[in-house]
Amino acid sequence: MTTRIPVAVLGATGLVGQEFVRRLEEHPWFELVAVGASERSTGRPYGDALRHRSCDPRPVTCDLTISPCTPDAIDAPIVFSALDGAVAGPIGEAFARAGAFVVSNARNHRLDDDVPLLIPEVNADHLELIERQRAVRGWSGAIVTNPNCATAVICLALAPLHQAFGLREVWVTTLQAVSGAGYPGVPSLDILGNVVPWIDGEEEKIVRESRKILGGRAHPGEFGVSAQVTRVPVEHGHTACIAARFARRVTTVEATSALREWRSAVADLGLPSAPTTPLRVRAEQDRPQPRRDVDRGDGMTVSVGRVREDGNGGIRLVALGHNLVRGAAGAALLNAELCVSALPALAGPAKIPASEERWPSG
Ligand code: NAP
Repeated sequence: MTTRIPVAVLGATGLVGQEFVRRLEEHPWFELVAVGASERSTGRPYGDALRHRSCDPRPVTCDLTISPCTPDAIDAPIVFSALDGAVAGPIGEAFARAGAFVVSNARNHRLDDDVPLLIPEVNADHLELIERQRAVRGWSGAIVTNPNCATAVICLALAPLHQAFGLREVWVTTLQAVSGAGYPGVPSLDILGNVVPWIDGEEEKIVRESRKILGGRAHPGEFGVSAQVTRVPVEHGHTACIAARFARRVTTVEATSALREWRSAVADLGLPSAPTTPLRVRAEQDRPQPRRDVDRGDGMTVSVGRVREDGNGGIRLVALGHNLVRGAAGAALLNAELCVSALPALAGPAKIPASEERWPSG
C-alpha cells in the first residue's frame, strides 16, 4: 500500500471547499485528514456544517469534524485554503509560519513579489519565488496562490498566443457564473433574468494578475490589459470574450495553430489533476457554451472558440472555464502536485513519483 501525504482544507464548508473535499476523496497522492471553517461550524460533523449542498451527481462524503483554522488544531504539511478573503491572509501566514505549505485560492498575497501566482501549465518556473519568500519572511513553510477564477481562464487562453506572437494589448469582457460569488452569493432577485455589470475588485484582479502570470518570473508582462466584467445567470463557468493585439499582425490560421499545437510545460510530469488537454480549441461557430463545455477535462480544460482576425491585425476569441475547478479547487490541487513534484522533500515518507525537472519553465 502506498502512503499518501496528509492534507487539510480550510474553508472546507464553502463552495470551493466542497469541491476540494470531493476531489480529495480519491486523490492518489493526498489524504484529507482535517477540515477547518469558521466558529459557526467548528465541532460539527462536516456534512451537518454545509450551508449549501451542490447538485453535483458525485455527492461529497467526509466523516471528519470541523476544526478551528489554527495550526494548533490542524496539523498537515500541505494546507489548502478556500477561506473567505477577509480572513485568509493572516490565517495562511500563521500556517506558513508553523511550517505548512499553504496552497491558497484567496485573493490575499497573489500580487506579493515573493509569492508564486501559478498556473502550472503556463508559469511553473515562478515556483522559484518560494526560496526568496522563505528568506524574506523567515518561515519554513510557504504560500503559493492560484489566480482569480476569470484570470485563470483568460491566461490559459492567452499563454500560447503570448508565447508565439508577444502580446501588446488585451481587451476582455467576462460573463461570470453566480457560483463565482460563493454562497449565498448574489441575491436571486438581482440575477434572475438579468446581467450585473460589476463584480467588486474583479477588473483590477484580471489586469494585475494576468500581467504577473504571463510576465517573466513575477515581473509584470509588458502589455496592456483592459477588463470589463459582468455577472450572468449561469450556475458554473466563466466566459471571457477576448480581443488581443501582438507584436505583429496575426492571422486566424496562425492563431488557431498556435492554440492547437501548444504544449503545456508540465505535460510530462504525470500530475494527477493535469488534464490531457488543458486547452481545447473548438471549430463550431456557437461554442464554447457553459452548459455544454464547462465540465470538459473534469472541469480542468479551458475551451476556446470563435478564433478570428479582428480586421486590424489582432485576434478575437471566446474562452470558457469552470470557475470552481480550473479557477479554484482543481487549480490549487494542480499547484500542490507541482510543488510536490518539484520539491520532493514535501512528500516526506509518502511514495510520490518525483520529477527530474526541478522548475519546469513555461
Ligand atoms: P464561500 O462559499 O463563501 O465559503 C467561505 C468559506 O470560508 C466557508 O467555509 C466559511 O466557513 C469560511 N470562513 C468564513 N469566515 C471564516 C472565519 N472567520 N474563519 C474561518 N473560516 C471562515 O466562498 P467560496 O466561493 O467557496 O470561496 C472561497 C475562497 O476562494 C474565497 O477567498 C474566494 O474569493 C476564492 N475563490 C472562489 C472562487 C469561486 O468560483 N467561488 C474561485 C476562485 C477563488 P463557514 O461555512 O463556517 O462560514
